[in-house]
Amino acid sequence: MKGQWKIMSPTKASARSEIGGAGKKFPLLSSALKIGSMTLSNRMIMGSMHTRMETMDRPLEREIAFYEARARGHIGMIVSGGFAPNSQGLIDPGCFIMNDGIDKGYHQELTSAVKQHGVRFVAQLLHAGRYAKIDDSVAPSALKAPINSRMPRALPTKEVWETIADFTCAALKAKECGYEGIELMGSEGYLINQFLSPRTNHRDDEFGGSWENRQRFLLEIVRSIRAAAGDDFPIMCRMSMLELVDGGMPQREILELAQALQENGVNSLTSGIGWHESRVPTVAQVTPRAAFKREIAAVKAVVDIPVIATNRINTPEVGEAILEEGVADAVYMARPMLADPDFARKVLHGNEKLINVCIACNQACLDHIFVSKVPTCLVNPRAAREVDFPEGKTDKPENIAVVGGGVAGMVFAMEAADRGHSVTLFEQGNSLGGLLNLAKVIPSKGEFNDFIRYLSERLLETGVNVRLGERATPALLEDYERIVIATGVAPRIPEIEGIDHPSVVTYEDVLTGKMTPGRRVAVIGAGGIGFDTAEFLLSGGGGEYANREDYAKEYGLADNADVSGGFQPDAAMAPKIQREIFLLQRSEGRLGKTLSITTDWIKRTRFAKSGVQMRSGVDYRRIDDKGLHITVNGIDETLVVDTVVICAGQIAETSLEKPLRASGKTINMIGGALFATELDAQRAVDEATRLALSI
Ligand code: NAP
Ligand code: SF4
Repeated sequence: MKGQWKIMSPTKASARSEIGGAGKKFPLLSSALKIGSMTLSNRMIMGSMHTRMETMDRPLEREIAFYEARARGHIGMIVSGGFAPNSQGLIDPGCFIMNDGIDKGYHQELTSAVKQHGVRFVAQLLHAGRYAKIDDSVAPSALKAPINSRMPRALPTKEVWETIADFTCAALKAKECGYEGIELMGSEGYLINQFLSPRTNHRDDEFGGSWENRQRFLLEIVRSIRAAAGDDFPIMCRMSMLELVDGGMPQREILELAQALQENGVNSLTSGIGWHESRVPTVAQVTPRAAFKREIAAVKAVVDIPVIATNRINTPEVGEAILEEGVADAVYMARPMLADPDFARKVLHGNEKLINVCIACNQACLDHIFVSKVPTCLVNPRAAREVDFPEGKTDKPENIAVVGGGVAGMVFAMEAADRGHSVTLFEQGNSLGGLLNLAKVIPSKGEFNDFIRYLSERLLETGVNVRLGERATPALLEDYERIVIATGVAPRIPEIEGIDHPSVVTYEDVLTGKMTPGRRVAVIGAGGIGFDTAEFLLSGGGGEYANREDYAKEYGLADNADVSGGFQPDAAMAPKIQREIFLLQRSEGRLGKTLSITTDWIKRTRFAKSGVQMRSGVDYRRIDDKGLHITVNGIDETLVVDTVVICAGQIAETSLEKPLRASGKTINMIGGALFATELDAQRAVDEATRLALSI
């Protein structure tokens, strides 16, 4: 299989006739699928996620509540978080090992709770190899991963065979625990992937060297599990369909591996895209939705077993299109199942407008996992905290006014109305969404549109009386028993000589399109909003959703099946830039310390390629016709700029608080109005939800 990419997608008509389900709005997603001996009632699969719930108090109660919520939401199949086959395979020390020491009762209770809802439950087996955050980590060769400080030990041949036996034992244990099949984690740069790839496999025994030898570890695991567990036990395999690392498998090897897995008894292939150490973003907002259709379809074209598509599939429209185009047979969604446990039920019942869409921000999920915290979700604070959020109606309904239609006000209003309160929401502007309306115009942040859409739909559904274009005054609020102030923030204007100069504008002026900055711009403040504004200015305007063509060019995705890793970093092109930018902060050290830890590198890399000049330790002296005068390390400098954009944080908008308190009303403050310094959508959503559930 040499040369150019080869994609053989079935026609729309043939895909439809194969998997049927006509009549529903998403007929293909809603139709049944067979994986080996197992039948899924629909083609939506909850992807494996490392939740770390097992490290919390009441772990079983929490896990049951978490997985059962998704099972009640009619997802076709759930793939558990990764179980290590032995102690060396642990991602981190607190996780489960699926061996003789496993608490079978715990897992049988969990699997029974899920399966009673007619949902298939499969255990993922994951050996972290050189990604393990433990002492004595192991790998095919003693090569340190760039994202782990620990040096792994190369597995001697005898221990490789023992590891294969441990995988087999883990599969049998999973079966005893009530899991209905297993998924082998063979992608994302974990141990199996490390054996497959010449990047990490420098061995000279039967498990290294030739391509045939590099495949041996995975194929022996498959053969051994098949022999021990029988023909009826489904074996799924997550395999790398695009490596995105130097020295990774080229597509030619990937396609051969897919066929070899099928021949050796694997029942389905789930796509894995990139390694955790890749310097190409594969799940962030800059990654287009369904970005990897091409690579997944190439695998589907060479096998007959079901292929399951992953990565940036967050709406039913995207999922249905993948099936309709014949790219894959099912879709695998992990973060979207944090965002909305009822995703599948809403698809099946045609209520897709009410889906709380994952906006790919990573802020509450992967950012948490990265620092060994239990993940949750920015748009759904109940995720992995189900037992901490009470359900049910209030027994003391109140007449409540909410002032402010930003994210905090909207979330509070819908949650309080859901509880049975009578809620009126006042928003002085003509649209809902507050600061999210600024976020959604940043390049690739169009995803925020979906959160505004979801909240607006929910306000309608829950019967909140929304009064747009109406400024709430104490007189207008007189009849309400409780007033929730969610009036948000205003940009902080720093005290700098010349701050009134006509060249000075705020981020709000820029992002709402009120002002168009010139060609050379200084941005004062390098927090989340400073970085976002700089990105907006660089691109010359608001980007909606990322697209594959620009993404492939920016990261050098290869068109040739023989290219190692499937990408050519040297061919990566810097994005076109519209402006020359200086990004500044007063404090010393790295800029953008408040950015998302798992995505900040994407912005930094883009800025470096685009020539953004970043300065810390800046003393702002004056702004005048010549530009912005600063001092850095005792040296005076004048930045000759056309425009100075202020992104220096926010101040709370609380003008209603005093008169309302004076009138003796019950007042609550939430979001930016409560605490402008640590303003953040995750906190606002969480705070608003908890307040609504407390009354
Ligand atoms: P921020 O992150 O607190 O940053 C404010 C910036 O303004 C800092 O760089 C600060 O640095 C500077 N500053 C503060 N007071 C100043 C003054 N008096 N004069 C000059 N500079 C001053 O706030 P933000 O950028 O407004 O963001 C608000 C919130 O939204 C943050 O919590 C942020 O995490 C969140 N957000 C996140 C993202 C994301 O991608 N994750 C994107 C947008 C917003 P110095 O004091 O060192 O100058
Ligand atoms: Fe998706 Fe953001 Fe929620 Fe993570 S935190 S699941 S990326 S919406």
